[in-house]
Amino acid sequence: MTDTQLVIIGSGPAGYTAAVYAARANLSPVVIAGSVTAGGELMNTTDVENYPGFPAGVQGPELMESMREQAEKFGAEVIYDDVSSLKLNPGAHEIETALGARYTAQAVILATGSAYRELNLPNEKKLSGHGVSWCATCDGFFFRNQHIAVIGGGDSALEEATFLTRFASKVTLIHRRQDLRASQAMQDRAAADEKLEYLLDSEVAEIHGDEALTGLTVRNTVTGETSELPVTGMFVAIGSDPRTSLFADQLSLRADGYLNVEGRTSKTAVEGVFAAGDVIDSVYRQAITAAGSGCSAALDAEHYLADLESAAKQSGAKAADATAIPAPVGS
Ligand code: NAP
Repeated sequence: MTDTQLVIIGSGPAGYTAAVYAARANLSPVVIAGSVTAGGELMNTTDVENYPGFPAGVQGPELMESMREQAEKFGAEVIYDDVSSLKLNPGAHEIETALGARYTAQAVILATGSAYRELNLPNEKKLSGHGVSWCATCDGFFFRNQHIAVIGGGDSALEEATFLTRFASKVTLIHRRQDLRASQAMQDRAAADEKLEYLLDSEVAEIHGDEALTGLTVRNTVTGETSELPVTGMFVAIGSDPRTSLFADQLSLRADGYLNVEGRTSKTAVEGVFAAGDVIDSVYRQAITAAGSGCSAALDAEHYLADLESAAKQSGAKAADATAIPAPVGS
């Protein structure tokens, strides 16, 4: 068992920013970064054009590597492993990893982010990796000169769709409403893409294929009419849900499934447990807001640990006073 002051679970912008601040405050944080998910969702992104400080844009993986490097430079220890068990006991929270490492931590920052949403249709899971994917930058290359569908109407869907037109013969974006949710900038960029077409007011009704995807049945959400779309690739980009399974039974969650924190702080209901990033944010969900939230969590953890230390010193001093041999009278 390794005793630590602070363990940070998660390595997206929230986790790594918390690590930078905590390491600079000499808290020697241990970051449990994940085995395959280290760096978080930005590892699956290409150009990030709206992260301040990069006027020419930056690649998502490059940004995350820089954050990791910065945290390590100040003394954070980054572990590429997954947390398998977390027991929240104020004073000594217990963390165990899939590879068998065990830690106690006086404070924990939960920055577990979010996970891609699924359509929950038959065949979706079976054909995952065989035509169905959640990551254009990971798998787009395999769909050279093929007709691909992208599902969703947010920034992610448009980003995936415009990225995929580099490879595909055609990309059809299927969105359940008439209006896209994506930002105007993203919509403008997509509008200039000649290989991209739209099936609006539409949803996927069925996914076809035995060994690999062969097509979709698409239903019009207004008329109910169905039609066939003979695609060999489908990228699902319908948002994500907070990853809370590690602690859902120990902390209070909001009705929408996000982790509850106290007001504008990062404090959860359990003493010494703080949270940051997408796991608490159902609204903004940007790399920069996650990073800011990671900073807040590190500052809250730092104050908490400082209070613990001064309380321990005071009770140590009282105990010393109580056991001190009184000086002889008249000395
Ligand atoms: P999102 O904004 O929540 O959009 C999800 C989209 O999927 C919506 O259009 C939604 O439809 C649709 N959808 C949800 N559930 C569905 C279902 N079961 N079936 C069919 N469609 C469904 O998620 P996101 O696009 O992943 O973006 C998340 C956050 O990251 C946003 O804040 C976004 O701005 C940000 N982001 C930014 C960038 C960038 O700036 N470069 C890139 C990617 C993401 P409705 O519209 O009808 O709800």
